[in-house]
Amino acid sequence: MFLIIGNDVNRLKIGNRVGIGWQSGSCHECEWCDKGEENMCDKSEPTCVGRYGGFADSIITDSRFAFVIPDKLESENAAPLLCAGITVYSPMKIYGLKPHHKAGVIGIGGLGHLAIQFSASMGCEVTAFSTSPEKENEAKELGAHNFIVSTDNSQMENAVNSLDFILSTVTVKINWTQYINILRKNGKLAIVGASPGNLDVPTLMLLFGQKSIGGSGIGGNPAIREMLEFAARNNIKAKTEVMPMDKVNDALQKVREYKARYRMVLEN
Ligand SMILES: [Zn+2]
Repeated sequence: MFLIIGNDVNRLKIGNRVGIGWQSGSCHECEWCDKGEENMCDKSEPTCVGRYGGFADSIITDSRFAFVIPDKLESENAAPLLCAGITVYSPMKIYGLKPHHKAGVIGIGGLGHLAIQFSASMGCEVTAFSTSPEKENEAKELGAHNFIVSTDNSQMENAVNSLDFILSTVTVKINWTQYINILRKNGKLAIVGASPGNLDVPTLMLLFGQKSIGGSGIGGNPAIREMLEFAARNNIKAKTEVMPMDKVNDALQKVREYKARYRMVLEN
């Protein structure tokens, strides 16, 4: 969307193409805001909860949450990056993913298809885990080096002790112990998908291999700017289907029926 700006805004200029992500406000005074971790602010304001958000014709927002979109990124690509993109990019930073690492991504969907591209572009050897064998070609086109059908116990057994980092993007119940076993020593399991139920992992498995499990949600403003730049430079693309705003109900129906591949984008 394009801008009208207030007198105190100095980081944006008229004519900038900007995008707003999941968050559109925070206190700017707490320790988390001070560190550029605005996503953890207790006064965080969501863009689309109790408001029209992305369904609105126009929006008035804190300019610090309006991000200039790099020229190389198409608007339809930038939109999912501002939510799904930062959600997968941020834990890669928080949990210290390095170019020499072997990374795993659980789930090839809206989040996972971006996580494969980000981790492969960072230089990692990437293994995609999916319950759908037919997604192998697509995962490899996105940059995955290996593909494991997660319901095939022999494939999962073969992967034991092989990965430094695993990102779970799915929202279904999974066998956490199996994935902790697949981590190498010092390995980290980062969770960004809201799987139901509790984590049930034998504590000794974490102690002996010095392994850790963590989670995160979206990311702070500095990480968002960095992610957009990284995505533009590395040609990271969200797979989207663009529909006009007046077809919003059809678009939502596709999402409800799990037919969106992988993000529906509405255009005004
Ligand atoms: Zn704050």
